Amino acid sequence: MVTEPAVRPDQVLHALGQVMDPEMPAVSIADLGMVHAVRIEGAAVRVTLLPTFVGCPALELIRQRAVHQIQQAAGTPIEVDVEFSTAVPWTSGRIAPECHGALRTRGIAPPSLTPPARGAEPIPCPWCGSLGTRLESWFGPTACRAIYYCRACRNPFEAIKFA
Ligand SMILES: [Zn+2]
Repeated sequence: MVTEPAVRPDQVLHALGQVMDPEMPAVSIADLGMVHAVRIEGAAVRVTLLPTFVGCPALELIRQRAVHQIQQAAGTPIEVDVEFSTAVPWTSGRIAPECHGALRTRGIAPPSLTPPARGAEPIPCPWCGSLGTRLESWFGPTACRAIYYCRACRNPFEAIKFA
């Protein structure tokens, strides 16, 4: 019986930093602030993640990738249990400010850090930085993103909704 932990919590966190969000490949689930808890129990690893938006269809894919990365980090087949919890609400403020730049380079405007007054605060264009943007559709390709249009550079872009 192996009772020694095969991985340390920091290795698990690092592994989770390799799991990219399927809907936002520029950022990892760790960058998005989805990691709620990492526990090592004997030889098993238990991870609790916060879903970014309830109903995100990618959750099962994220779970599978997280298990895979943690087992890679352990270098040996270990028991990995990844669960989603809504005990603590995920908010867009949990997104690491360091990855806002990575989102912009993919044409995705990061969420504002304060709740926008509806329609009052323009979303800067991730391509050119212009504030001359308008909301095209509140319903983007995923539940968490809205589609905007930049009048300055004439590009559409997506913005993560404040949550
Ligand atoms: Zn623009």
